[in-house]
Amino acid sequence: AKERGRNNFQFFKPEMNVRAVERQVIEANLRLALIRNEFSLHYQPKINLESGAITGAEALLRWAHPQWGMVPPIRFIRIAEDCGVIVPIGRWVLREACAQTKQWQDDGLTIAAISVNISAVEFRRQDFVEGVRTILAETGLSPNCLQLEITESVLMHHAEGSVAILQQLKDMGIQLAVDDFGTGYSSLSYLNQFPIDVLKIDKSFVNDIGASKTDGDGGIVSAVIAMGNSLNQKVIAEGIEKQGQLSFLKAQHCEEGQGYIFSRPLAAEQFAKLLRLGVTA
Ligand code: C2E
Ligand code: CA
Ligand code: CA
Ligand code: CA
Repeated sequence: AKERGRNNFQFFKPEMNVRAVERQVIEANLRLALIRNEFSLHYQPKINLESGAITGAEALLRWAHPQWGMVPPIRFIRIAEDCGVIVPIGRWVLREACAQTKQWQDDGLTIAAISVNISAVEFRRQDFVEGVRTILAETGLSPNCLQLEITESVLMHHAEGSVAILQQLKDMGIQLAVDDFGTGYSSLSYLNQFPIDVLKIDKSFVNDIGASKTDGDGGIVSAVIAMGNSLNQKVIAEGIEKQGQLSFLKAQHCEEGQGYIFSRPLAAEQFAKLLRLGVTA
């Protein structure tokens, strides 16, 4: 029915209609959100599992809509990608995260690196690398304090092109992490060609540890840690919630972790308090 041209709304199922309208409303509000200053970043600490020290943080986008309240990223990132507004939003996120981290460092707080999520749409733009370079220069953050998280599926799609972009970022001194590792369809030979510093084990695998399910014995997690170690890549596990998961990861010598067991993502002031303490609550 979609191909029949204009004035064909009656051919859509009612629920499709509602979804299409909802998308349009969210899209329009996303464009306004930048102007109205409705975005903020929360910061989730990354922990060295052996020492318990905070090594860095992941910046996570938050949208406070004046009428709808907090809108979770899962409700709007995809829509922002589809309509392209993720590009100015992504620039805002990168600039804010770099400026905030530089501020913390100037205030005497120790934070080794800030991680920022990069969407497929941003990563594939011609001007992406230059945009990152500009923001680093403008904020004064050292490139080796910036870590970009790019999902495995984004890297593997057009893997050849990805290698070239990653290498340019790497040459600038930026750290590179593969996000959601294990959920894509990595060709191991490519993984070896990517100049990657960090493998981020997806939380679905961490969640399975100890569960009476497919990977309850943590076989996938152990394999990823072993592979990361042999490729000289740091391995970080996300979504750690339970003591049993943490014990298992420590026993397997997973270097870093992130998850509610340590801390939820925090507003900037709360995260700064945590940094001042130097340990997790
Ligand atoms: P992600 O990059 O995989 O981020 C991890 C998500 O897991 C975050 O959800 C985080 O709050 C959540 N999380 C952290 N610890 C735990 C835990 O122990 N248990 C559970 N169940 N969840 C945990 P959030 O903030 O809702 O973000 C969801 C996704 O939205 C992110 O997944 C990322 O793909 C995307 N996203 C968030 N911020 C940005 C951004 O600035 N730019 C882009 N392009 N994407 C973003
Ligand atoms: Ca991430
Ligand atoms: Ca993830
Ligand atoms: Ca599994």
